[in-house]
Amino acid sequence: MARTAPRSRRREPLEVWKFGGASLASAEQIEKAAALIARHSGPLVVVPSALAGITDLLLEGARQAMTGNRAEIARLSATFLRRHRDVVRALLPSGTPRRKLLATIDIAAREYRELCAAVGLLDNLAPRASDRLVSRGERMSAQILTAALIQAGRRAVYIDAVDVVETDEHHGSAAPNLTETRRRARKLLLPRLAAGSVVVVPGFIGRAPDGSVTTMGRGGTDLSATLLARALNAKRVVLWKDVPGILTADPRLVPDARLIPQLHHREAGEVAHYGAKVLHPRALIPIAGTRVEMRVRSFLNPDAPGTEVSARRSLEAYPVKALAIVRDQAIVTVAGKGMAGVHGIAARTFSAVEAERLSVSTIFQASSESSIGFTLPESEADRAVKSIRQMFSGEITSGLIDNVTAKPGMAVLAVVGDGMAGTPGIAARVFSALATAKINVVAIAQGSSERNISFAVSGADAADAARCVHAAFQLSKIGGGRAAATTWTDVVLLGFGRVGRELADQIAAPVDNQPPVRVVGLLDRSGFIFEPRGISRRRLLDLAHQKDGGALISSLGGRKANAAEALTTMAAHAVSRPIIVDVTSEETGDLLRAAIGHGFNVVLANKKPLAESWERYNALLRPSENGVPGGPRVKYEATVGAGLPIIDTFKKLVETGDRVLRVEGCVSGTLMYIMSAVSQGARFSEAVREAVEKGYAEPDAREDLSGMDAGRKGLILARLLGYHGTAPSPQSLVPEQLRSVAIDQFFAKLPSFDKEWADRAAREQRNGRVLRYVVTATPRSVSAKLAAVPASSPMGSLEGTRNLIAFTTRRYRNEPLVVSGPGAGPAVTAAGILNDIYSLAGR
Ligand code: ADP
Ligand code: ASP
Ligand code: MG
Repeated sequence: MARTAPRSRRREPLEVWKFGGASLASAEQIEKAAALIARHSGPLVVVPSALAGITDLLLEGARQAMTGNRAEIARLSATFLRRHRDVVRALLPSGTPRRKLLATIDIAAREYRELCAAVGLLDNLAPRASDRLVSRGERMSAQILTAALIQAGRRAVYIDAVDVVETDEHHGSAAPNLTETRRRARKLLLPRLAAGSVVVVPGFIGRAPDGSVTTMGRGGTDLSATLLARALNAKRVVLWKDVPGILTADPRLVPDARLIPQLHHREAGEVAHYGAKVLHPRALIPIAGTRVEMRVRSFLNPDAPGTEVSARRSLEAYPVKALAIVRDQAIVTVAGKGMAGVHGIAARTFSAVEAERLSVSTIFQASSESSIGFTLPESEADRAVKSIRQMFSGEITSGLIDNVTAKPGMAVLAVVGDGMAGTPGIAARVFSALATAKINVVAIAQGSSERNISFAVSGADAADAARCVHAAFQLSKIGGGRAAATTWTDVVLLGFGRVGRELADQIAAPVDNQPPVRVVGLLDRSGFIFEPRGISRRRLLDLAHQKDGGALISSLGGRKANAAEALTTMAAHAVSRPIIVDVTSEETGDLLRAAIGHGFNVVLANKKPLAESWERYNALLRPSENGVPGGPRVKYEATVGAGLPIIDTFKKLVETGDRVLRVEGCVSGTLMYIMSAVSQGARFSEAVREAVEKGYAEPDAREDLSGMDAGRKGLILARLLGYHGTAPSPQSLVPEQLRSVAIDQFFAKLPSFDKEWADRAAREQRNGRVLRYVVTATPRSVSAKLAAVPASSPMGSLEGTRNLIAFTTRRYRNEPLVVSGPGAGPAVTAAGILNDIYSLAGR
C-alpha cells in the first residue's frame, strides 16, 4: 500500500475514529477496519473497544472469582486467550511481530487468572480491582489493530490510554479531566501524528490521579473518542457501529426505527443521557457547544453517510426526532404530608443520592408537593433508599415524611427534539397516543428546556409505548422513510428438540419469494448460543447431530445461563425483528411474557403457555391483539393440528363476518392412531406400543393417553371462540390402577386391558360406529373425551395420525367446514411454525 507523504497529511484536518466492539468481532472484521483506516489519508487517532463480548467475559470472570469458582475462571481465561490468539494468527504471518503479540496475550491471560484468584482470596471485588481486570480487553484489541494496520502497510503506533487520558478516582465510572488530558494528548500524540502515524489508543480506560487504571463506564469508548477529539481540537469524530447511525428509536424495540440524518449536539446529548444504548450517556459532554462534528456511521456499510451530529439545525418538520428507552429502572419516591412547603427536601434527597455517587436519570415532582420521585437503575435502588432514609431519619421518626420506597421493574422513555420548544401540543400527542393504546403512565417529567418529555411505564409496556409514540410522530418517515433496519428476520429457538431441529433445517433451506430468515440463537435449559449474524447451517446441523447424542447446549460451545439471562443478553444486541419460537413442552409463560417486553414476537408450538389461567393467557396475547402498529405479535398455528391451517381458518371466517359456533374434532395424532387401530381389531396394548415406537407418542405414553394434551388443544380452540372458563378435565384412557406405577410396569400390565377395549370396539362396530377421542369447543364449554361416531362420518373415516377439525358457523351450519390432514410429526409441525414466522416477517 502506498504511503502518503507526512507533509501533505498534516495539512488535512484531524479526525478521531472509534470502532465499537460489535465491529471488532473477528479477524475479518479487524482486517476490514484496518483497510478502512489505511484508505484514509488525513491524520487520524483510532480508539477501539474490546473485541465483541470480551468485556462481558472479563467481568463474568471477576464475578466467578467472588464465588471461588476456579474452574470457570480457568475456562474464561482460556477463552480470552483463544479468541485473541486465533485473531492474531489469522491476521499476521509468522514472524517477530506475531510472536511478540502472542506473548503479550499470554501474559494478559495469565495475569487475569492470577488476579481473579487474588480477588477470590480477598472476598471482595472493589471497583478498582475490577477496572484492572477489564482494562486488558481494550489494550489487547488496540495492540492487535495496530499490528493489523502495519500489516496493511500503514504507519501506526500504539499508545496506552493511561498515558493520555486522565480521569478522577471513581473507578467503574470515572469522569475525565479535560485539562490534563489535553496537555498529555498534545504532548504525546501530536508529534506522532505529525510524523504520519495513525495513533491507536485503547478506549474505555484512563488513569486516576493515584496512577491506577480506571474505566469510564460501560460503552465508555464513545467517551474516550469524543474526549480525545476535543483535547486535540479535531474536526470530526467518527463512531463506527453495527447500526446505520443514530436511529429514531432502539431498533430492537421499534422495528420501523429509521436513520436520523442529522441531530444537534444537544439532541444527541439527550438521547445519550436517557440511556439509548447507541451512545455512552456522557459521550456528548466534551464536544457539546464546540465545532467538533460527530458522525455515527455504519461499519457494515462504510459508504453510507450515517448520522451527523453537529451545531447546525435541520429537519424542522420534526419537532420530535428520537425516542430513548431505558429499562430496568426503579422509581424511588419520598412521600409525606409534611413535605409540602418545606424547603430543601429535594436538595437533601439528591445530596443523599449524590453521596452514594448514584446517577439519577429523571426527576418527577407531583404537583401536590407531597412527594418527590426520581428514577435510577433498579440495581441501585436499595442503596439510594437506604441513604435517603438515613438522611431523613429525624423526619421519618417525627412523621413529617411517611416513607421512602422503590418501585422496580419500570422503564423510562424520553421523547427528544429541539423543535418541541416552539411547538404546542407535543405532550398531549404523546399521552393521547399512550391512552389509545391503553398504556398506563406511572410518572411524567418535562425537562425545563422543553426539549424533552420523559415518562415512566411498567417495563412490560415499554416496547408497546415506544412503538405507539414512534407512530404518533411518524418517525418512520424521517429522512425520506428509508428503512434503516436490515431485512433479516432473526429467530431464537427456545428448545432444540426434534421439532426445533427440523425447523432449523427448513429455515436453512431458503424458499423463493419469502422474507430472509436466520436462526441467531438457541436456548435450552442448560444455556444458550447466540450469533447476532446468524448461526450457519453447518453449525446448526452439527449441533443437531450432537444434541441427538444427548448433549446440552452449554456443553456445545454455548454459554451457561438460565433462559431469562439469555434473553436479556440477546435483547441487548441488535437482533432485527426478532421472533422467539417456543418448541418446548414446558411452562414457559413467564419467559415469553418477558420476551415480549424485550420486543420479541412470539411463535408457539408449545401449548402450555396458552393453557394457563385466563388472566395469564390474556396477558400473553393482549399486547399482540391490541393492534399497536409494529407492536408484538403472538402466533400459534402449530399448537393445534401441527401444520394444518386451523387457527388461520378460524380467523378468516371471523374476518369475513361469519360467527363460529362450535369447533369439534380429532386433534391428537397419537390418540387417533391408537383408536383407529383398536377400531380395526388391533390390541390396545400393541397399538400403544407401536405409537411409541413410531415416535407418535411420548416415551411415557400416559402423557398422551391421559388426554391432557388433547384437552389443552380444546381449550386453545375454545378461547378463540371467546370462552373464559376453566380448563376441561379430559377423560383419561390410562386405567386407574396404572396411573402411578413405573413405566415398565405400565407396559407390562397394559395387555390385561386389551379384552375390555376389544369388546367395546366390537360392540360399537355392530352399531356401525367407531371409537374416537373427540374434542369439542364452544364459546361456553369445552370437553375432551372418548366418543363413538358413525363409521361413515368424516371423523369415523379418519386413519393413521390424521387430524380433523369441523367448524360449525352461522354460514356453515348444516354442513360444517372441515379441515383435515396429517396432524402430527416434526416435519409438518415445523412447516406450521415456519408459516407463522413468514407471516410475521412479511408484515
Ligand atoms: P458499539 O459497538 O459502538 O459499542 P453499541 O452496541 O453500544 O455500539 O450501540 C449500538 C446498539 O445500540 C445497537 O445494537 C442498537 O440496538 C442499540 N440502540 C439503542 N437505541 C438506539 C438508537 N436510537 N439508534 C441506534 N441504535 C440504538
Ligand atoms: N468494552 C467496553 C464495554 O463493553 C467499552 C466499550 O465498548 O465502549 O462496555
Ligand atoms: Mg457501546
